[in-house]
Amino acid sequence: MQRILNYINGEYLEPVSRGYLEGYNPALGSVYSEVPDSDERDVELAVKAAEEAFEQWSNFTQEQRSDILLRIAQGLEARMEEFALAETNDQGKPLWLSRAMDIPRAVSNLKFYANAALNLNGEFHKTDNHIFNYTLRSPIGVVGCISPWNLPLYLFTWKITPALAMGNCVIAKPSEITPMTASMLGEVCSAAGLPKGVLNIIHGLGTKVGSAITAHAKIKAISFTGGTKTGAEISRIAAPMFKKMSLELGGKNPNIIFSDCDFEKTVKISAAAAFTNQGEICLCGSRIFVQETIYEKFKISFIEEVKKRTVSDPLIQSSKLGAIASKQHFEKILSYIELAKQEGGKILLGGEAVKLEGRCVDGWFIAPTIIEGLPYDCRVNQEEIFGPVVTLVPFTTEAEVLMMANSTPYGLACTIFTENLSKAHRVAAKIESGIVWINCWLERDLRTPFGGVKQSGVGREGGFEALKFFTEEKNVCVKI
Ligand code: NAD
Repeated sequence: MQRILNYINGEYLEPVSRGYLEGYNPALGSVYSEVPDSDERDVELAVKAAEEAFEQWSNFTQEQRSDILLRIAQGLEARMEEFALAETNDQGKPLWLSRAMDIPRAVSNLKFYANAALNLNGEFHKTDNHIFNYTLRSPIGVVGCISPWNLPLYLFTWKITPALAMGNCVIAKPSEITPMTASMLGEVCSAAGLPKGVLNIIHGLGTKVGSAITAHAKIKAISFTGGTKTGAEISRIAAPMFKKMSLELGGKNPNIIFSDCDFEKTVKISAAAAFTNQGEICLCGSRIFVQETIYEKFKISFIEEVKKRTVSDPLIQSSKLGAIASKQHFEKILSYIELAKQEGGKILLGGEAVKLEGRCVDGWFIAPTIIEGLPYDCRVNQEEIFGPVVTLVPFTTEAEVLMMANSTPYGLACTIFTENLSKAHRVAAKIESGIVWINCWLERDLRTPFGGVKQSGVGREGGFEALKFFTEEKNVCVKI
């Protein structure tokens, strides 16, 4: 049994309650770790440590802070294999994916923000020959970062790094479902020379630790990634306290396929967009709209392509889909498949749990599932499932597909496949989402703004946006 501890003031500490939650390996369906069941008392200790550390950390030069972040990146890179295995055991995703995507991306986040912070400029405005204005950006102070379970270290570092880079001290809470790699990161931070108290990692339930972070008067900003309902709850508490908030929430992303697409490429990318990470990426394209003239052809090819995506032990190199992150989520996904049947959907592929043999016999696995015959406005096509389940919906005209694509309360990402550039840009402009990919998916340039519209979020991460979020801006006007 691996016991995880909180990381407060540079030390690994037991939770004040001395209580622990059960941490599961989803591929085995069994408990393998103990996760601190922390509460507001642990948050209080962390806030104290962060407040004390702030004076020193915020007075470091930008270069000094960036150097430490780059050393953390190097430390993480040196332990890549260990972190990749830990991520897979905790989350259920294939090991090759942790190696190829999750941990390398965490390293990139650290490197990117360490460098970007050195290049963030203030503004200068000359009003006339006697008056000029300049803007100062100062760190906010103690800030909270709350992250989800689908891309654990990837999203944890995406949040804490810009906060640290700009001189803030952080109280961070990874998901209680996948706390392992965030916990290990504390060791790397200490070894890299991050001063005590600058980063504090508190584990536990959202309703205890998450809400204590949200409600703490001395935590001035909240950067949150997770479900829309949780985002609403955080806003309910933090908005009347006038906290700065960045909310990256759920999605129900359309993948729009026009008949003039590059067919082979579209089939392959659509399968990846649907089922990478078991469909547990907020950017996955789960509603696949296909122009009617190629609908049948696409359906056949897509099914063939998805059949190649084997569900297996995540430690096996050929595994394309690993385990679902938690039992509760596994049951939720299966309930949506049942709902799809009730709503008149036809299961074209999958539609059931997969029972593996050997060490994964009790793991939580679901076959990649393709459903057709559902109206665009039924629950399955409107609510976020966040698993390996997609629907195929035919369309005739551009206007019709735009109406259906924009019909959900979400607006995170969209994918468009067409070789007609004018059409691609026209549809991209009219789609209600913060991110649009044309003839590709999940191509990420960390300099670009990232986030959603409608119920998919408020604010943008990425590039200078995230760095600016973690600062207060002050304009100074001088008359000579
Ligand atoms: P979740 O909202 O249940 O939990 C996210 C985090 O919030 C966890 O650390 C959790 O402990 C904490 N939390 C829960 N209740 C809280 C509360 N009342 N106050 C404060 N914190 C609380 O989400 P999840 O199930 O971990 O993640 C899946 C969701 O995240 C999906 O909806 C997915 O679309 C979304 N997501 C969005 C993005 C994005 O960038 N927009 C990225 C990844 C995941």
